[in-house]
Amino acid sequence: MHEDIISIQQGKLIHIHQVNRHVYHLRIQSDDFKQLEYIPGFTMDIFLGDPNTQPNIDDRKYTIWNYEPIHQIIDVAICTFSNGKGANWVRTLEKGDTVYFKPPRGKLLLDDSADYYLMIGDITSLSHLYEINRNLPLNKKVFSFIYTYNQRDIFPDIDDSFPLDYYVINPLDPETIKNKIVSLLPDFEGEGIAYLLGDPNTVITLQNYFKNERNWNPKNLKAKPFWKEAK
Ligand SMILES: Cc1cc2nc3c(=O)[nH]c(=O)nc-3n(C[C@H](O)[C@H](O)[C@H](O)COP(=O)(O)OP(=O)(O)OC[C@H]3O[C@@H](n4cnc5c(N)ncnc54)[C@H](O)[C@@H]3O)c2cc1C
Repeated sequence: MHEDIISIQQGKLIHIHQVNRHVYHLRIQSDDFKQLEYIPGFTMDIFLGDPNTQPNIDDRKYTIWNYEPIHQIIDVAICTFSNGKGANWVRTLEKGDTVYFKPPRGKLLLDDSADYYLMIGDITSLSHLYEINRNLPLNKKVFSFIYTYNQRDIFPDIDDSFPLDYYVINPLDPETIKNKIVSLLPDFEGEGIAYLLGDPNTVITLQNYFKNERNWNPKNLKAKPFWKEAK
């Protein structure tokens, strides 16, 4: 038996669509979401198979891109840049499949207490930034910087809008990204919260920059590498 057997939930894949060459849009309906006290920024650990019959199956963390509580439907955007296990798994899925996951929860949650927001990330973290951005009160100021090495990888938010600012940077280098951000950053008044997500080296470079050179309080830096660099 899987060690987390008690907390395994399941849902039905009611829609799967390849948005572009590296992004799949999944829509999952689950009665288990009836108990969900959803906060934007929640993620779910999705099993790459059936943990009831494959007890040692891996899981991967994916952000809830949108939650629709009336029919208990969530959207997820899964990227295949890694060509890793999760990427290979998503390519095998078909509409009607059962998907297994742990109860959604999260750490990089919506926090609407700040005066302004920095939303910085790559394509893999784009659905997370979209979900936070869409749920911020309209009066909040937002500076956004989505970095990608190819224009074709950019996908729109769930409502087909492109609400953030996108930058094609090739090659994707943390110092180049940082310098570009520094040159564009507006002088917002008040206290800010920065979501720094995505490429590990870029997240660390930006976290150090805001902490050491801009004297940001670390509690206002919601920084998270979305994967581990290969050793
Ligand atoms: C809070 C959080 C939220 C996340 N939300 C999402 C999400 O909504 N959608 C999503 O697709 N992923 C998301 N991720 C990342 C996801 O959990 C996986 O780590 C990632 O998709 C790679 O898994 P994999 O099995 O495909 O590749 P792995 O087998 O884990 O990795 C294979 C190799 O690819 C490299 N690699 C992994 N990811 C990338 C990448 N994006 N670009 C380039 N190289 C990479 C690794 O360094 C490794 O060498 C999230 C991660 C975190 C921490």
